[in-house]
Amino acid sequence: MLASEPETLRPVSYTPASGVVAMGDQQAIDYDVVVIGAGFGGMYMLYRLRQLGFTARAVEAADDVGGTWYWNRYPGARCDVESVEYSYSFDAQLQQDWVWTERYAAQPEILRYAQHVADRFDLRRDISFMSRVDAATFDDTAATWTVDVSGQHAGTLRSRFLVSAVGCLSSTNWPDIPGRDTFAGDRYHTGQWPHHEVDFTGKVVGVIGTGSSGIQSIPIIAQQAEHLYVFQRTPNYTVPAHNRPMPAEELAELKARYDEIRAIDRTLSGGFGAQYPRGTVGAMDVSDEERAAEYQRRWDIGGFTYLGGFTDALLSKESNFTAAEFVRGKIREIVTDPEVAALLSPDHVIACKRLCFDTGYYETYNRPNVTLVDIHDGGIEEITPTGLRAGGADYALDALVFATGFDAMTGTLLRMDIRGPELSLREAWSAGPRTYLGLGVHGIPNFFVITGPGSPSVLTNMIMSIEQHVEWIGDCLAAMRAGGQQRIEATEDAQDQWVGYVNAVADATLFPTCNSWYLGANVPGKTRVFMPLPGLPPYREQCDAVAANGYEGFVLA
Ligand code: NAP
Repeated sequence: MLASEPETLRPVSYTPASGVVAMGDQQAIDYDVVVIGAGFGGMYMLYRLRQLGFTARAVEAADDVGGTWYWNRYPGARCDVESVEYSYSFDAQLQQDWVWTERYAAQPEILRYAQHVADRFDLRRDISFMSRVDAATFDDTAATWTVDVSGQHAGTLRSRFLVSAVGCLSSTNWPDIPGRDTFAGDRYHTGQWPHHEVDFTGKVVGVIGTGSSGIQSIPIIAQQAEHLYVFQRTPNYTVPAHNRPMPAEELAELKARYDEIRAIDRTLSGGFGAQYPRGTVGAMDVSDEERAAEYQRRWDIGGFTYLGGFTDALLSKESNFTAAEFVRGKIREIVTDPEVAALLSPDHVIACKRLCFDTGYYETYNRPNVTLVDIHDGGIEEITPTGLRAGGADYALDALVFATGFDAMTGTLLRMDIRGPELSLREAWSAGPRTYLGLGVHGIPNFFVITGPGSPSVLTNMIMSIEQHVEWIGDCLAAMRAGGQQRIEATEDAQDQWVGYVNAVADATLFPTCNSWYLGANVPGKTRVFMPLPGLPPYREQCDAVAANGYEGFVLA
């Protein structure tokens, strides 16, 4: 128990459903499971564990639920999966009751949804907010985790299992630019945006970074700022989101078909886009006119659908080039200054860095108060108290926005000191992350990662992947309880084979061909490994088969 023993960290008053027995020796532990994080993964894990009769506590750094949607409050933050799909499916009444107001929900609405789920299922009583897991050590004799927590609920928790629900994009990347901390103006990171409204009216603002966060925030900052400088290292492809209000009749019609939509989503590689059938032929199998018409049709629908017209957008360089060239043509059409249009035009494979969606992004560069600064050659030389220097020129700034992304997928996991009996997670992953199914790690028993590296995770509708993982973990724990087992660990062999399989699948695609955060290439010194696994439906089948075969590839004792 905790040194200070606050009531909130006591085991909850929850009584397991009749006939349900708790796991093993309950004297030695405070909870069956400690869950790290209370975003969409942690919330559903808590709910599921409760349903199954396990005791659990989640530890969350923020003062409320929501995870990525709690932190990413930058102007224009919006989901790129349609709201009816980017939502939990586990409770039919929840999905019928919640009213989405836009095609793509904005951050405040998604956060309200997360808060509603927490209220509806009374989840907060099992969450220690404003607290962080700093370290966790597994005692192999007692099959018990000792979890060190700092912050408001500082102390030690003992549990049989540890589940990471820290999310894939939760450690912000603050690039180590000389003089970074000397800037005397207002400094922001899109992934750690303040909770109060930030108004750039009358200010000269610099934005570093043109990934999804930059591309969503730049048009809005440009509308407020006296002048906006965008410092671009690599241009990115972006497709219009065509976001719009969701009419009540349309939402009702979608809700009436919810089961069908979810069923279609389960067959799709990314777990979303049920309303937009995929093409069945390769891009080079049709005439130039047919291909251009299909790209235009999908450009007009907007979002990820753009790449769904042909089967080989991410398999064939030649096909991919046609999709990329179509976007470059759009940039030339929209941006009036040909030099700026050329600077905005990417030359890498489209979607090997995550495709972006925007509202008026390219149009923003036609504004007289916006300047695109190309820094691909020398980067930013120095940040100074009054602004920054790039390409030998000084830019005076009142505010500086870092839209520089995240130490993705492994950053938050490795910030904690997670220790198995003989090695730590940091040691196990010293040459890049290695997992079995993205769920388990050899050498770290009784530890599960929700949407970990080696699982489809960030290439999918995250909520669908979260649900699949949470349900698999819940079923696994229930099976262990039924079998009287208290320890589970992935075998080295199964893990090696899995890592080989993930690499082989990724290498058959165009994904690994550019310097993306999928590969860890955005963080200097990070080992390059393609971290997510393309293709959710086959992955789901593999996970189900592992479970059906008595958790093959894991040793249970
Ligand atoms: P990101 O995609 O990693 O983009 C970071 C940007 O910062 C890139 O343009 C990068 O340039 C630049 N950058 C990084 N370090 C730099 C440095 N030292 N100097 C100059 N430029 C530097 O990060 P993000 O935009 O936050 O997006 C991350 C992911 O979060 C997305 O891919 C997506 O999965 C998710 N997200 C989703 C949404 C949505 O749902 N719509 C919105 C926001 C984020 P380089 O390309 O040259 O490295």
